[in-house]
Amino acid sequence: MNLAGIGYDCHRLSEGRRLLLGGVEIPYERGLDGHSDADVLAHAVIDALLGAAGLGDIGDHFPDTEERWRDADSIELLREVVRVIAGEGLQIVNVDCTVMMEKPKLAPHREAIRERLADALGLAPRRVNVKATTGEQMGFIGRGEGVGALAVASLRDDR
Ligand code: MG
Repeated sequence: MNLAGIGYDCHRLSEGRRLLLGGVEIPYERGLDGHSDADVLAHAVIDALLGAAGLGDIGDHFPDTEERWRDADSIELLREVVRVIAGEGLQIVNVDCTVMMEKPKLAPHREAIRERLADALGLAPRRVNVKATTGEQMGFIGRGEGVGALAVASLRDDR
């Protein structure tokens, strides 16, 4: 049986923070603000995986009220979720995602992000797709106030 899950996340762009997307640091004058490292793409992928597995959401597993998740490396959180999913006897088939960001351009970093996510997911890079779009200067994305990310994950359940 195939299972599908979606994930969505957004974080505010602020001065003095790093811009991490899918575990790749992108040079920019601002970065993403949050309790963890605020890797909005990793968070969307985590929620897509948990959704497909029927295991709730990222806040259930890594509450932002807990001090131990402060500045957490979200790729490590993703690796933990991948372990949980494997422990359930589920296999990750593919992940597709979209980063919604006005600036900077994602294109120069897309392959690096794909490879980093694929490594964390234990997948071949061809099973991970990373897309990008802007907000066409509309809304919080278009005004550069924040970055959003969407992800879809497919799992195989042979239990
Ligand atoms: Mg988040």
